[in-house]
Amino acid sequence: MIATNTLPHVRHVAMVSCVGARNEERSYCGRTCCGDMLKNALKLKEVDPDVEVSLFYRDLRSYGLMEDYYLKAREVGIEFLHYEPETRPQLDVEGDAIAVRYYNDALRDHEEARCDLVVLAVPIVPEGNEPLSRLLRVPLTTDGFFMEAHMKLRPYDFSTDGMFLCGLAHYPKSMREVIDQARGAALRAAIILSKDMVLCSGAVSQVDESRCTGCGLCAKACPYAALTMTEGTDTKVAAVTQAKCKGCGVCGPACPVDCITIHHSTDSQIDAEIDALTGAPHEVSEPRILAFLCNWCGAAAADNAGTSRISYPTAIRPIRVMCSGRVEAKSIYKAFRQGMDAVMIVGCHEVDCHYVSGIGETIRRVPYVKKEASRNRH
Ligand code: SF4
Ligand code: SF4
Repeated sequence: MIATNTLPHVRHVAMVSCVGARNEERSYCGRTCCGDMLKNALKLKEVDPDVEVSLFYRDLRSYGLMEDYYLKAREVGIEFLHYEPETRPQLDVEGDAIAVRYYNDALRDHEEARCDLVVLAVPIVPEGNEPLSRLLRVPLTTDGFFMEAHMKLRPYDFSTDGMFLCGLAHYPKSMREVIDQARGAALRAAIILSKDMVLCSGAVSQVDESRCTGCGLCAKACPYAALTMTEGTDTKVAAVTQAKCKGCGVCGPACPVDCITIHHSTDSQIDAEIDALTGAPHEVSEPRILAFLCNWCGAAAADNAGTSRISYPTAIRPIRVMCSGRVEAKSIYKAFRQGMDAVMIVGCHEVDCHYVSGIGETIRRVPYVKKEASRNRH
């Protein structure tokens, strides 16, 4: 409409930024709206320099080269009016007449502007991503966009190997950024496709098919869909696709018949660590705490404390596990039986779990373990 000049009766246009964004319901910044608003305002001025344009903004986020639009907009006489969330511009509409009531920060006074057109800058809103996220076992952010493996180190990858992301599924971005990210994602995929063979880690789990009852609980718990149910002799049994397995160990505690071996973190290795730590000498006055530390957060923090020469109480006995979801109920009970006063499990922040949903499994399991432990105590 602007480009074809089909807005002949419009003499004053008001544009309002951050509508439906950066609020309690939707906390993220729309990112593209400020730039689009500026471009549209400039186009209006180009088509008809006599049109008045008032731009109501909360914070003008014209990042990168979009700053040029902002500077140009000021040169051509576009009016910028700042507002705070509590003094949002209010609209009164009567027939074709629109009045915008607002608080003028500079004059510290309430004012009113008559407009022919009000344009609201709204953010891109993700919709319907949950089914795809469940199907592909890839995480979403709290805002409902797909989440990359690491914001800085792996911005094109999902945490599941061989899956890449780009575009608005990731978060709101300009077409230029979408194209750049799409190229990056295509290159990441090409690296895999150009190889004859892909090397995988040996830190994987294995199912003892002769004992598996086919309940499928491990497959539900695995964050990477590395466990699938296949036809066994009499019934379906679980099988690990080792190329997909990340070795988190979350499947181990999920198995009710204990028939999964986590090769690099076996039950007997963990038992031996518990035996060694519960048997270590201690001050009688100190309560003893066995701490299971996730490799990527708690253990890293403990290491960091060590290298920074920060001491922590000797009453804390740490055991490193790849993921807090690896911790078995039987290990917790064993620690209490062997005299520990408390057991601490340290895992990643829920939206930031290194193994996607490992900490979610821990949070789900711990209340059952506590309930069982208190039942056995009475
Ligand atoms: S170790 Fe982790 S990634 Fe591997 S099969 Fe078990 S739950 Fe899945
Ligand atoms: S949880 Fe254990 S018994 Fe159930 S399917 Fe998996 S390996 Fe088999």
